[in-house]
Amino acid sequence: MTFSDLGLSEKVLAAVVAAGYEKPTPIQAQAIPHVLARKDVLGVAQTGTGKTASFTLPMLSLLESGRARARMPRTLILEPTRELAAQVEQSFSVYGQNHRLTVALLIGGVSFADQLKKLDRGADVLIATPGRLLDHFDRGKLLLTGVETFVVDEADRMLDMGFIPDIERICKLLPFTRQTVFFSATMPKEIQSLADQFLHNPVKVEVAPPSSTAKTITQKLVASGPKPWDKRAVLRTMIEQAQELKNAIIFCNRKRDVATVSRSLSKHGFNAGALHGDMDQTSRMATLDSFKNSKLNLLVASDVAARGLDIPSVSHVFNFDLPTHAEDYVHRIGRTGRAGREGVAISIATKADRKYIDAIEKLTGDTIAWIGEMDFSSTSQEDDENPAANKRSRRARGGRAKTDTAKSEDRQSNSKKKNESSASGQTDTQEVNRKPEPPAPAPRQERSKSSSRRSRQRDDRQVIGMGDHVPAFLLQPIRPQKPKPSKSKSAD
Ligand code: AMP
Repeated sequence: MTFSDLGLSEKVLAAVVAAGYEKPTPIQAQAIPHVLARKDVLGVAQTGTGKTASFTLPMLSLLESGRARARMPRTLILEPTRELAAQVEQSFSVYGQNHRLTVALLIGGVSFADQLKKLDRGADVLIATPGRLLDHFDRGKLLLTGVETFVVDEADRMLDMGFIPDIERICKLLPFTRQTVFFSATMPKEIQSLADQFLHNPVKVEVAPPSSTAKTITQKLVASGPKPWDKRAVLRTMIEQAQELKNAIIFCNRKRDVATVSRSLSKHGFNAGALHGDMDQTSRMATLDSFKNSKLNLLVASDVAARGLDIPSVSHVFNFDLPTHAEDYVHRIGRTGRAGREGVAISIATKADRKYIDAIEKLTGDTIAWIGEMDFSSTSQEDDENPAANKRSRRARGGRAKTDTAKSEDRQSNSKKKNESSASGQTDTQEVNRKPEPPAPAPRQERSKSSSRRSRQRDDRQVIGMGDHVPAFLLQPIRPQKPKPSKSKSAD
């Protein structure tokens, strides 16, 4: 099968040759003829399968006849994130290099004025995130009744991000006779019912999700205590001990942790940046560019932010958290070991992660080896990034901070423990080449559960009300009021 067998226009075929593609990917071979025939298509495929071209190439061919009218886009593509939307726009400029089409991008974090100019001119292709699209619509700047082809990309991500009500609303603003192309990596029942609602007799095209990992990737697990600071310490050790680390992506499950881990790494002298959904567009693009240009060598990211991004191969992938969906593991570690190159993927695992490890090993058929012993105990009681929390926890442990002698004893006993574990060949969380450390924490056993509960209660009492500070007006003596004679008595 070649691209010229699919019925694409000459202009599109020339662009495909210029892009250097030799043959269509399976999803392209299956989807393109149906999109060209203006059929509704339900595509089950992940990023990395070539799915973007499977709708952009036939759309370009179809758009060659007809022209756009002001504020009435001819086609609409919805993407869950700004980066994905920007990437699809990029695909249109690559594949549409022989066309003179207007492509408008409506995403948050970019000025409304520039977006409006393009809409006013008449957009052949409108690529948007659902929220920004509805903003424009509600301001009366946009009419969706001219949309001939509607694409919903990464529908399962839209579901994760809470966009389904927006999509339902958008669908109602579109003409009934439109063509709908719907892509999702997985088909949970909410997505299936959305597809049933908005697609008419769709052709289903599917490519199996990647379930095997490249043989060039060395996969490892490393045990950690359950606290975020335990995991951060393990991560630092793994980065420091990594062989030939050129650059790495560090995946976290929550965007809150993306920011914390990135800040923590920078504080510890690493060259790290963050990529998560709450950042404005300019800083997200700047971070990504710095990583691509090797100005940054550690990129901390969430799945949503990193999904589908065209990031060149990296030498290492770290999973700060194990992903809850096994497919995400395959996707994450596939960022390394590309095109036959060697890659390393290290996942930090806590005791509670057993079920995720089992699911990953079942999906990939690989058994992942552990670095060192499976020691899930906490290595530190204190949050190295949060001195206020440390102060509280120290107060809770024994009222006063430890004496210098006690601190030094703790340090000695900690370093002894580390030496012992190193001698036994265990890779522990000992940190190499580190910057000055906060005081060594007391061993965990010191604190019994009941004493910690008691001291937490004591702490709670300290913060109730205004603490030690009592405003002056509250200290003024209260003059007792004279009791008023009651009416009934006076009547007597
Ligand atoms: P996607 O799944 O759309 O995100 O595409 C993943 C990557 O595959 C992109 O970098 C595309 O440039 C590339 N690609 C798409 N189609 C082909 C093809 N037929 N041959 C080679 N590479 C392709």
